[in-house]
Amino acid sequence: MAAQTYLFPCLKDNFGVLIHDPETGATASIDAPEAAPVEAALKKTGWRLTDILVTHHHADHTAGIGELKAHYKCRVVAPRHEAQRIAHVDETVGEGDKVQVGGLEARVIDTPGHTAGHISYFLPADKLAFVGDTLFSIGCGRVIEGTPEMMWNSLVKLRNLPDDTRFYCGHEYTDANIRFAKTIEPHNQALAARADEVAKLIAAGKPTIPATIGAERPANPFLRADDAEVAKSLGLAGNPAWKVFAEIRERKNRF
Ligand code: ZN
Ligand code: FE
Repeated sequence: MAAQTYLFPCLKDNFGVLIHDPETGATASIDAPEAAPVEAALKKTGWRLTDILVTHHHADHTAGIGELKAHYKCRVVAPRHEAQRIAHVDETVGEGDKVQVGGLEARVIDTPGHTAGHISYFLPADKLAFVGDTLFSIGCGRVIEGTPEMMWNSLVKLRNLPDDTRFYCGHEYTDANIRFAKTIEPHNQALAARADEVAKLIAAGKPTIPATIGAERPANPFLRADDAEVAKSLGLAGNPAWKVFAEIRERKNRF
């Protein structure tokens, strides 16, 4: 049976998301920005929390873990390379590991860069990806602990997921990301199409995610650092993609 998802806002601009296996009743929270909205989402759906799948150690993704674990005795799965920075961890995972949520199976993808040990979760059967603060719609996370080269390689891994993969990220930043992206590629048609779609979603008070990898790939400038035209327009023709990526990221930091 297909996985069900429930998306909701947390904190100022974080997303919370639950994934649910209707077959077994198992339910995982992807990260836990704060306990109360997760509990409200559980109440609304009638689902019982069995697992928390953590993407990275930042407080806006982990602050709710202790309270949720105390209430639900759920299992906490966290990235191996930064688990020591996260409280209440039961199980640590890394690249290629499989995580079961009831009958659902997630594959772990190492996506370092934003933090040194950041991971993403991909459910191949449902084509769902939970990418934390690595990939945002029309943007990407800040490179805080890793290097631009590391972050670029992580983004390429996510870019290589099947076109019809729906990805869920950690924050609602899409509108600001689009305003920046237009400064890099003012004539990108895929970006213009996404901008129209996002404007409608925002006007309707709806979240702008999930987005699909197939729609994101031609529109997100951070996934286009190996495009010859993008490199050329930044005065970086012939440079390795990660250097072009680093330049785009630098410009976004200053935007
Ligand atoms: Zn973060
Ligand atoms: Fe975050």
